[in-house]
Amino acid sequence: MNRIPMKTPLVEMDGDEMTRILWQQIKEELILPFVDLKTDYYDLGLPEREKTRDQITTDAANAIKRYGVGVKCATITPNAQRVTEYSLTEMWKSPNGTIRAILDGTVFRAPILIDSVKPVVKTWKKPITIARHAYGDVYRATEYRVPEAGKAELVFTGEHGASFRKTIYDFECPGVLQGMYNKDSSIRSFAHSCFQYAISTRQDLWFSTKDTISKQYDHTFKDIFQAIFDTDYKAKFEELGLTYFYTLIDDAVARVIRSEGGYIWACKNYDGDVMSDMVSTAFGSLAMMTSVLVSPDGNFEYEAAHGTVTRHYYKYLQGEETSTNPMATIFAWSGALSKRGELDRLPELEAFGRKLEEASIETLDAGIMTKDLVGLAEGITPKAVTSIAFIREIRARLTAKLA
Ligand code: NAP
Ligand code: MG
Repeated sequence: MNRIPMKTPLVEMDGDEMTRILWQQIKEELILPFVDLKTDYYDLGLPEREKTRDQITTDAANAIKRYGVGVKCATITPNAQRVTEYSLTEMWKSPNGTIRAILDGTVFRAPILIDSVKPVVKTWKKPITIARHAYGDVYRATEYRVPEAGKAELVFTGEHGASFRKTIYDFECPGVLQGMYNKDSSIRSFAHSCFQYAISTRQDLWFSTKDTISKQYDHTFKDIFQAIFDTDYKAKFEELGLTYFYTLIDDAVARVIRSEGGYIWACKNYDGDVMSDMVSTAFGSLAMMTSVLVSPDGNFEYEAAHGTVTRHYYKYLQGEETSTNPMATIFAWSGALSKRGELDRLPELEAFGRKLEEASIETLDAGIMTKDLVGLAEGITPKAVTSIAFIREIRARLTAKLA
């Protein structure tokens, strides 16, 4: 078989533990036999991050800026226990955090749906993608435990003379106090990423905050989104028949539950944190969640939403064949290759990504599954297989599709 050619390399970021094993198997069985793969490879596995003093992560992020599309394996975010386990000289930062900071991107999470695993919410037929603004608000707040009666004030002193001072509360007893912020530049990046991703995936965009209560803070988010939409994206949305709408978060929650799915729901940092866990749990399984980081200038990084599946890895090290679900990692590859194909105008490569996804879904529809899904499947008699057996079943279907 002639392998499908590529033009621009994909930025490939290898990772850790069980997902590193899956990464290799996916490449060998599902990519290399069919695609003349060109990658710019970065090993973000923890040993290499230690060796390069984490320079490798920065290099990888800059490569995504250069080439436009990356695919990333799950990686360990070190904690105290990992520092001992891997003899680290420093507790290196989360690679995802580093990459996100360099690309200034927004994370979009969407579930992979199959017929036999029904969402808890009966009306949901299509995926709901959550876009979380991953900067500021309560995650960067300054907090104070008020110990006694006293006056709390909000004070701002501008570099060029602007000033603001207002009483927050005259405490008559102990209490709590919190000061949080966000930046126009970050909100603007968030808005651009959301509009670009909506266009890229041909989906409507919803945005919700609590602007009726938060008349300055949340209202600023609403205004910035609207202004950017009107000047930069309205025409394109109209051309594609897409809708952007803003609504109060209470209303959004009610609409989401009654909807069929099939749109992007943009949320502020805290709302996105909470709502993405709710939506992903209601759709079924963490192993079926995909994740894309989109930068405001249109760079894409694809990955699985789950971690390195440590518990399975320790079993693997003891010689056990595990039944770890590779779906989200396969979809990271298919998404990245399709996007590369789209950008380089290589329809064959773009179609390959789609066919890989179809072959994966058809394997699950045939009841061939990893253990995590077997307990969730309805209306079929599922058969639990190992990861490698599952991947080979996908390969057989993919080979037939490409013939
Ligand atoms: P995890 O790797 O997502 O796994 C948590 C549990 O979820 C697993 O033990 C497993 O449950 C289930 N699970 C997740 N993915 C699965 C899959 N593909 N197939 C089957 N089951 C799956 O989270 P964690 O154990 O909290 O974190 C492990 C490491 O991953 C940590 O070092 C963390 O820093 C890192 N992490 C990385 C990323 C990233 O790179 N994006 C994200 C999150 C965490 P059972 O054990 O019940 O089978
Ligand atoms: Mg959370």
